[in-house]
Amino acid sequence: LTPVPSDIEISRAQTPKPVDQLAEEIGLLPEELEAYGRNKAKVQLSLLDRLHSQPDGNYVLVAGITPTPLGEGKSTVTIGLVQALSAHLKLNSFACLRQPSQGPTFGVKGGAAGGGYAQVIPMEEFNLHLTGDIHAITAANNLVAAAIDARMLHEATQSDKALFNRLVPTVNGVRTFSPIQISRLRRLGISKTEPTSLTPQEVSAFVRLDLDPSKITWQRVLDTNDRFLRKITVGQASTEKGQIRETGFDIAVASEIMAILALSDSLKDMKDRLAHMVVGTSRSGGPVTAEDLGVSGAVAVLMKDAIKPTLMQTLEGTPVFVHAGPFANIAHGNSSVLADKLALKLVGRDGFVVTEAGFGADIGMEKFFNIKCRASGLRPNVVVLVATVRALKMHGGGPNVSAGAPLPREYINENLSLVAGGCHSNLKKQIQIAHLFGVPVVVALNVFKTDTRAEIDLVCQIAKTCGASDAVPCHHWSQGGRGCLELAQAVKEATRRPSNFQFLYPTEMPIVEKIRTIAQKVYGANDMELSPEAKSKIDYYNQQGYGSLPICMAKTHLSLSHMADKKGAPTGFILPIRDIRASVGAGFIYPLVGTMSTMPGLPTRPCFYDIDLDPDTEEITGLF
Ligand code: ADP
Repeated sequence: LTPVPSDIEISRAQTPKPVDQLAEEIGLLPEELEAYGRNKAKVQLSLLDRLHSQPDGNYVLVAGITPTPLGEGKSTVTIGLVQALSAHLKLNSFACLRQPSQGPTFGVKGGAAGGGYAQVIPMEEFNLHLTGDIHAITAANNLVAAAIDARMLHEATQSDKALFNRLVPTVNGVRTFSPIQISRLRRLGISKTEPTSLTPQEVSAFVRLDLDPSKITWQRVLDTNDRFLRKITVGQASTEKGQIRETGFDIAVASEIMAILALSDSLKDMKDRLAHMVVGTSRSGGPVTAEDLGVSGAVAVLMKDAIKPTLMQTLEGTPVFVHAGPFANIAHGNSSVLADKLALKLVGRDGFVVTEAGFGADIGMEKFFNIKCRASGLRPNVVVLVATVRALKMHGGGPNVSAGAPLPREYINENLSLVAGGCHSNLKKQIQIAHLFGVPVVVALNVFKTDTRAEIDLVCQIAKTCGASDAVPCHHWSQGGRGCLELAQAVKEATRRPSNFQFLYPTEMPIVEKIRTIAQKVYGANDMELSPEAKSKIDYYNQQGYGSLPICMAKTHLSLSHMADKKGAPTGFILPIRDIRASVGAGFIYPLVGTMSTMPGLPTRPCFYDIDLDPDTEEITGLF
């Protein structure tokens, strides 16, 4: 339709086919499906065993140029591309998307179901609670937080003997360690499993985690942009007997448990990773884990359904897995290893799985390769790099615009020199970053109605001279899959090219050198600079044996540098590393760059102003 109706109007105008019908079409057995209502279902992981000998399909990663408030449309391209491959070229195809966070949905950016005629439907189910994975992560994370503070209180107020009697109670007259407690005894080097045979020193070592309150790294989480929780003080009620400390909240989707969900390849792997999460340091300097707290089994229970990807569909009835979370700036921000693996088996040798990495290729794609591909062992055949004329103009020197503000004329009228400026800076650099990993790049120009023929041609021409194997305009937003056929053909063609995949760094490289390599080769920095805090953390992590973990940078997504207002491809800067955390269970070291915060805030007029419910029809308005 012209003009294209709103995202929610388009979504609502299409009735999705029942999810069991979709499941049957893609070859799932009824017992492999756990329906959540009519439109979505979780898929059992046993499917991986059943399809074990099936060859994998082609693996396509969608990444983007550096985002601007004008939007690029990676999710929209991902969906348009699978609609074109599947519904029009009749090739088995799957999209793997991340579940949106309620932070941006009610904050600045809105939902993430795509848009126009390239969407996942029903978009309100996709954008809101879905099948509860983020709620499960929040519950699991905060159970660990509660366990930490309660344990410190009990240790501070009870003798060794009283603690031991409570931690190892007598059941039917027998005092027995739980399996988690036996595991802790082993790690303490105590081989006895008879509670009565422990010496007083062994009892003390067993019952006292002796967490140093100033070295607790575990934070509480919430899936809301609640900036006032960035720094809080807990334990102020008199019942907590003076156990007061400062801590804070992170956004739930950037939590270690979300990363574990995304990177695990089985329930067992997830359970092991959850047990190894380090929550802080004891006063003697040793790491304290979720298993030490005795909470890792309960956390695994809370997460047991979340590990299964959720099956949904596009507007054109093609399959989509929704799993794991966004925020590639502060988290690793990729959909799950399990969703990709299941989809690759389901589409078979000639099929296509299109998976999305968040934000610009410098962060989402870099983490996809260096963290996710290392964990999964999967290698993509091609990278689709999404760009828009409007965003390229901003990278080429166009004025800054805040989200939702009226567009200056540079973004409405033809301006070839701004477009060329953006192509020769940001687009070129992001293509080069993909080439560092040896993977061919197809540039997808997501066309807006203000783009002129000359601007579109210029982007495609420069992209090819910058090394893209192809560059094509895409009209999926206004036309659906039919408008993305050129991209589908280009992607099909590019998968025939050799992909000489390589990691950017070996994990054995020292932590400092790994960070420097990303700063210089990916971001274009002259060098990086560690704060004293970051330096001492690196020494500590090396001592603890975490030195060979890959790196997950927390950096602004709005620039290749750490300075959000520096567009294009900045050079000559020194990347400041403020602090470093370790997500040992997820399996990465997590440097915080510049002033990057792990809990976003709300603007003066957040998206929630426009979101409303009609109580008679239960219709939702204002989601996009
Ligand atoms: P990203 O994944 O890069 O964050 P999305 O695909 O979620 O971006 O798109 C962001 C918003 O921009 C959506 O609301 C979508 O409807 C809108 N949008 C995307 N492409 C176009 C287009 N070609 N024309 C108009 N609006 C678009």
